[in-house]
This record gives sequence, C-alpha cells and structure tokens, in this order.
Amino acid sequence: MPYKSIRDLDLAGKRVFIRVDFNVPLDETGTLITSDTRIRAALPTIKLALGKGAAIILASHLGRPKGKPNQKMRLDPVAARLAELLGRDAKMAPDSVGKEVGRLVSELSSGDVLLLENLRFHCGEETNDSNVAEQLAGLCDVYINDAFGAAHRAHASTSGMVGFVSEAAAGLLMEKELQYLSMAVSNPERPYVAIVGGAKISGKIDVLRKFLQLADKVLIGGAMTYTFLKAQGVAIGSSLVEDDKLGVAREVMDQGGDKLLLPIDHVIAKDLTAESDTRLVDGTSEPIPKGWKGLDIGPRTIAVYSEAISKARTIVWNGPMGVFEVEPFAAGTLAVAHAVAGSAATSIVGGGDSEKAIRAAGLSDSITHISTGGGASLEFLAGEKLPGVEALVGR
Ligand code: AMP
Repeated sequence: MPYKSIRDLDLAGKRVFIRVDFNVPLDETGTLITSDTRIRAALPTIKLALGKGAAIILASHLGRPKGKPNQKMRLDPVAARLAELLGRDAKMAPDSVGKEVGRLVSELSSGDVLLLENLRFHCGEETNDSNVAEQLAGLCDVYINDAFGAAHRAHASTSGMVGFVSEAAAGLLMEKELQYLSMAVSNPERPYVAIVGGAKISGKIDVLRKFLQLADKVLIGGAMTYTFLKAQGVAIGSSLVEDDKLGVAREVMDQGGDKLLLPIDHVIAKDLTAESDTRLVDGTSEPIPKGWKGLDIGPRTIAVYSEAISKARTIVWNGPMGVFEVEPFAAGTLAVAHAVAGSAATSIVGGGDSEKAIRAAGLSDSITHISTGGGASLEFLAGEKLPGVEALVGR
C-alpha cells in the first residue's frame, strides 16, 4: 500500500487525531441515533489507538449544517453512544477549533477520548480552508483517517490538514474498505456480477461504464430502468424517468451489449402507498399503461438475476431494485439481498439503501463486506482517486 497504516505507528503518549465518519442517522429531534453502525465501524481503530497508549481526538461531520451551528446536528448523542460502546468516558468538545478546544486537548492524557463538535459547523471544513486545516492539525501529533465515507471529499479534515501534520496514516476501517474495493477493481474472481439500482442514472453513469468494462454482467434495477427502457422506445407509463439522460442511456446500452441486463417484468401501481392496487406487467410484451408507474422488478426478473448472482464469484451491489421502503414494492430488493447473501461469491454491498435492505433481512453476516461509504465506494469503483486517500499517499 502506498500509505502508512495505524498498525505501524508508535502512538504511546501522543495526541492522535482520528477523522472518523460518525455521520449517523438521527431522529427528527436530533437526539436519538437510529443506527449506530458507523460508530461501531470505527471502534477497532479507536481501540487499537487506546491500546497503543494514545490520547484520542475524534472528529466527524454530521448532516449538512451549511457552515453554521445547528442544534439538531450536534454530536452529543454520538459521544454518549460511543462511551457506552467503549465502556469508558468520551468527552464532548463545544466546537472543533478555537481556544476552548485547544485547552481541552492540552489536558488530555493517554487513554482519554475527546470528540470534537460537528466539523461542518464551520464553512472552512467543506471549502478546505487552510486556516481551519492548520488549526485542526495544531491539535495533534499524529493524524489518522478512518473516515472512508468522507474520503471522496477534499475537505479540511480529510485532506487539507494532512499537509500540516508530521505523521499521517490510514485507520483500520479505511484499510479494510480499500482492500475489498481494490480487489473488485483490480483482481476480481470471475464471473464478476455488478448490480446497480436506485432512483437515477445520473450520479451512477461513471460507475456503470466502469462496471461494463470490468464485470461480466451488470444487472439493472430501480427507477433507472425506465430511462433505459424509454431510450429503447418502450412505453413506461408514468414511471420515473430522466428525459435528459436518454442519450447517455443509449450509449451505455451500446457499450454494454449483452453484458447489461434490464428488468423483463415489472410490479406497477398508480401511486406509491402500502394500500396501492398493484399489477404485474411483462416488459417484453406489454407496455406500462398511462398513469401507472414501474416500482419494482417482477418475479421473472428476480429469477434471471438470482441465477446470474448464484454463479458469480465476485458481486458488487449498490442501490435498491424498487421502492423497497414501501411493502408492496420491496420484494425485488429483498430477493436480490437473499440471492447475494446466499451466494458463495465475495460480496461487497455499498450505499445506504442496499445496506438497509440487507440488515432488515438479517443477512449482514452473510455479506463479505458492507461498505460504510456509498458515495465514496461508487467513486472508487468508478476508478476515481479519493482525495482523503491521496492525501495519505507518500506520508
Ligand atoms: P439512489 O439514492 O439513487 O440509490 O436511490 C434510492 C431510491 O430509489 C430509494 O429511495 C428507492 O425508493 C428509489 N427507487 C427505487 N426504485 C424506484 C422506482 N422504480 N421508482 C421510483 N423510485 C425508486
């Protein structure tokens, strides 16, 4: 690896700044964490640093406060949950930079844990302001980046501050994410099946093109299906469609040839409620009627996709097959989750929705790697360099 690992560093008695991804979902009051997965994912690195005798400064963003303090995006609930999970005190700082933070950091001893307040309460975090970067760097002796989920952002805490610290390395989660995702990019065992779903083609075009180069089959689901079908001249009723992406959809289909599989039947409804009257249409012979929307893949598609998945040796999955949040349209995503979990392949699942489906079905233990970074994993799989990783290279 072209970067150092936290495993190689002597951290005894040092102040170690760990950029973590504690961007957890909170309830509408901003006080209750609805999933602590991201906090748990950072524990191995935090425990390793504690075991090495470090004093720890943790820093994360949460939500999109747009450069201003926001009561509903404070990290206090995270500090409380972290303390429970670690079985030791995790102190909360009132800010991420400034005099009071400097004072709290100067009082830290080996074994102490201090969580800084939401980095994005200052606009300099997202603009990668060098003043903010230098202030953050001034808090520590060693910098560790374990925030894979934010590695596709060149922000002060993920990129800028690295230039101001004397020692920088990757944390265990960052290493693990890069190890699995690199394998899918550079050395996948074949057959390699990529499954791409979700609402839109836009945002996933680069990764679709890359999958069509690297994988043996690319299975499409979700609303993006209907942009592809409309581009082929198929009647899609009132399904979600990106009319400005029809040309791109045609290009992707030309590039993909028979590697690219589109749904062959659809669960349709007039509206998106649990009580909706649903129908099944055979996409190869029946149009989707006017006023009806395609909201999930049908059983014939499930059978074809499950067969391809069962033969795979490497699987990457990002994005749901339908509106899985609403019960009548969840079957396709659930079936794909079961097929992926049941296969003997190395399976990598990324993106919040696919992860949610896997967890809801109780299948997490049957997946080789569930990525904590949806956007970051897509950019990496599309062959792009991640600024948070690049900043560590050669350090
Ligand atoms: P993305 O963030 O692009 O991965 O999109 C995820 C969202 O796509 C989920 O909230 C799904 O409900 C939604 N979605 C999936 N399939 C469809 C569909 N056929 N029509 C409308 N929305 C869909």
